[in-house]
Amino acid sequence: MSTPAIAAPRGTRDYLAEDGSSLLSCVDTHRRVSSRFGYRPVITPIFESTELFERGTGTGTDVVEKEMYTFRDRGDRSLALRPEGTPGVIRALAGDPAVRDIRPYRAQYDGPMFRYDRPQKGRYREFHQVGVEVLGVRDPNIDVEVIQVAWETCSALGITHVDIRLNSLGSRDDRLRYRDELLAYYTPLRDELCEDCRRRLATNPLRLLDCKTDARHVAAAPVLLDGLAQETRTYFHDVQEGLRAEGIPFTVDPRIVRGLDYYCDTTFEFWHSSLNGAQNALGGGGRYDGLAEVLGLPQTPGVGYALGVERLMVIRQETGAFHPEQPPTVLVVALDSGSAPYARACARQLRDAAVPTALDLAQGKLDRKFRWCDRMGTVWCIMCGEDEVRTGQVTLRNLQDRTQERLHIDDCIARLCSNTGGVK
Ligand code: AMP
Repeated sequence: MSTPAIAAPRGTRDYLAEDGSSLLSCVDTHRRVSSRFGYRPVITPIFESTELFERGTGTGTDVVEKEMYTFRDRGDRSLALRPEGTPGVIRALAGDPAVRDIRPYRAQYDGPMFRYDRPQKGRYREFHQVGVEVLGVRDPNIDVEVIQVAWETCSALGITHVDIRLNSLGSRDDRLRYRDELLAYYTPLRDELCEDCRRRLATNPLRLLDCKTDARHVAAAPVLLDGLAQETRTYFHDVQEGLRAEGIPFTVDPRIVRGLDYYCDTTFEFWHSSLNGAQNALGGGGRYDGLAEVLGLPQTPGVGYALGVERLMVIRQETGAFHPEQPPTVLVVALDSGSAPYARACARQLRDAAVPTALDLAQGKLDRKFRWCDRMGTVWCIMCGEDEVRTGQVTLRNLQDRTQERLHIDDCIARLCSNTGGVK
């Protein structure tokens, strides 16, 4: 009996070839765009102590209550695979005295995140995020800048028509007042609420506004924005003015909330119509001036966002915005063992000229090598045999139209790099 093959865990994906390029191009683009704004990399562990997320992400959230991958290590410590990047990044940065001297401190990160979610299109148990955090200042211009970095990342990825939803959660006092209003509104409706909402009523009333089941009640609920104090109202006004000055479109949407006490002022989500229904957010973020203190660190204001890479990939695929890089565009083959050193030298020259080059020194049928090219989408094959070595030339074969010609390797490279040569 044959041994059964082991499948990838439910809710995870392998990223091969074009999928791999698509993921990497999102990550590379985010690194490039954010570093242009002066954001420096921060790389934190993929697992952290469970308590970091219980405190930082919050025990009242679905992420911590239902979705976290938690385990005990051999030293009996409770650890968790990170469900989001922010708490780890704040732990690392707000705890570092050198960082505390630089205000604002701009950081960018990317990497895999883990949530025990119900898998479906665009929703995985291992997924990837790119994000930024800015620490040390409470300044509406910085909130604008953070939204701008996310917006420009989308546009550099060819993603247009992003719908930015903006809200303000005000100050702690604003929210305490609002919490009472929400309780007064929802308590008489208790028996009509879904099970999750009944729990939220006791643990985290702001999260009631996230409910998709009780949408009717959400629509009629009081609005936090209406009761903001003057100072927080001005702050929100300045964020909106800044976005307009940068030409970034947005809609004020009072339903965009984050349920934890340390969130304040600006909060936002990025939506796109290519993503369906409940999964239409490609990212979100906001200001969290109380988070560092919750983690036992010196009080440090902060603002940031995270974008879901798999969502960016879906949008790019659906809108045709992703153009996969060409696979190894050129195959260099040695027609006999004596020509191998010459073939190696040609391959080296091609690679030095940034032409993606695969080298095949195995002795075998040329037909097979051409078939490999076909399957890989490789158009050009460069053949090196005794004649080529003797004349200092190569034979360049176009596998699409089956033509070939002899030329010097420098001319061959020039041809491949020219617009008409097929290598971009
Ligand atoms: P959040 O930290 O929940 O605000 O998520 C930020 C972004 O990460 C979301 O807008 C999604 O784009 C992405 N995201 C969150 N959970 C998942 C998941 N299970 N699978 C794929 N992407 C996710």
